[in-house]
Amino acid sequence: MLEVVTIDGPSGSGKSTVSKALAKRLNYSYLDTGAMYRAFALEVLTKGLENHKEKYINLLKDFYIEFSYNSEHTQRVICNGRDVTDHIRTPEVSMWASTISKEKEVREKMGYLQRKMGEKGKFVAEGRDMGTVVFKDAFVKFYLFASPEVRAMRRYKELLDKKIQVTYEEVLEDVKKRDEQDSNRELAPLKPAEDAILIDSSELTVDEVVDKMYSIVMEKKRLWKYI
Ligand code: C5P
Repeated sequence: MLEVVTIDGPSGSGKSTVSKALAKRLNYSYLDTGAMYRAFALEVLTKGLENHKEKYINLLKDFYIEFSYNSEHTQRVICNGRDVTDHIRTPEVSMWASTISKEKEVREKMGYLQRKMGEKGKFVAEGRDMGTVVFKDAFVKFYLFASPEVRAMRRYKELLDKKIQVTYEEVLEDVKKRDEQDSNRELAPLKPAEDAILIDSSELTVDEVVDKMYSIVMEKKRLWKYI
């Protein structure tokens, strides 16, 4: 078993905020796998290859991603040597990340990079298939969800904060479309692992979710000593 905590769930369930806070509290590293799909989608869009699958699959050979942290512990995403952090959260990149992530070659490459980054253990990995595919032997798995309306409202506020012009209705439609794409794809569809602990964040604050997860992880760690 790996000393890894996986947090899967749909967009806007609060995964990123909660994963970062939990990692900090546990003194673990944090792996944002959505950022990897987003960075690759941006690469495809920048090169204008969105309608040329063969060509963009070819880009995977040289695709390389690193995460770095500045003095405020804010994550920076470095893709093929370029800092893409400020460009990967737009609605266009979100939708493309969801589209390209259906492809087998894309998933294989990301899965390989994720396992390599996670070799040493002691980290929190967030995504869609962390508990079901990439880190099947993680010692604690969570599935975080909330209603589409609550998730769309959170995403809407985030985008407004970043001065990205959208309406709530557009965000809700995107959320539903992305859920549909992510849940119905053939490979690694979004779903809870059989052994995942389900948490509904609709009515909970970030602190309440993190407290809940932290006590579950600590309890597992205590029990683990006796296995
Ligand atoms: O989590 P985030 O919204 O940043 O992820 C962007 C997209 O990347 C998701 O909609 C999903 O299609 C894809 N993704 C994935 N597997 C992961 C993480 C993200 O397919 N482990």
